[in-house]
Amino acid sequence: MKNNIDHQEINKFTELAARWWDKDGEFKTLHHINPQRLAYLSQRVGNLAGKTVIDIGCGGGILAEAMASQRAIVTAIDMSEASLQVAKLHLHESDVQVNYQLKTAEQIATEQPAQFDVVTCMEMLEHVPDPKSVIHACQRLVKPNGHVFFSTLNRTLRAYLLAVVGAEYLLHIIAKGTHDYAKFIRPAELATWARTAGLDVKHLTGLHYSPLTHSASLNQDISVNYLVHTQKAA
Ligand code: SAH
Repeated sequence: MKNNIDHQEINKFTELAARWWDKDGEFKTLHHINPQRLAYLSQRVGNLAGKTVIDIGCGGGILAEAMASQRAIVTAIDMSEASLQVAKLHLHESDVQVNYQLKTAEQIATEQPAQFDVVTCMEMLEHVPDPKSVIHACQRLVKPNGHVFFSTLNRTLRAYLLAVVGAEYLLHIIAKGTHDYAKFIRPAELATWARTAGLDVKHLTGLHYSPLTHSASLNQDISVNYLVHTQKAA
């Protein structure tokens, strides 16, 4: 099996691993957008309680824990070992359960095909060499009729100005070098890759983040950050 990992990317997250749960640290935007992401999942899927969920590229577990606190049965994978260690330690503070594993999406898809009601893959596709392969792995992981969610950054001038120049270099709200503009993904590309992998695109929404008020909202504007809801055919 091909090894779909960019080690430089993994190292970036490993170096910052101690900061995952610092709400004023380099990952604060993920903390701020998390309630909106969770709301979107519930809006599209319904109650998460009792659902089997896998989070791909979970980092320190910001979304994984939030889903577990809604009583979903959560597995979460990442290839940054230090991030997973932080994620596991944090479970003691939050008192929820998440099954964390050091694996790629492709590995776990081979081991546990069609085992999950819901697959989430947030802010991860723009960090891998072959995003199509991850999308395909997500399709293999989900049960027939199950739901797969992706979020990423759009490859637009506006996204470059806000997410790279603004957030990394002017406002320093995320670490410099976190994002590579060339790896941002246009919604039409993501939709084509999802369909090719056997996932129907059900819905798309923009996710707006204001660095001044730290507030996030879902809206029609998909020009920067966006979420996609897809579903595997029965
Ligand atoms: N999904 C989380 C974290 C996003 S940061 C959230 O939105 O809150 C991107 C994460 O993807 C990092 O933790 C990084 O280690 C992970 N990652 C990057 N490439 C990966 C790969 N090939 N396999 C698994 N995880 C990967």
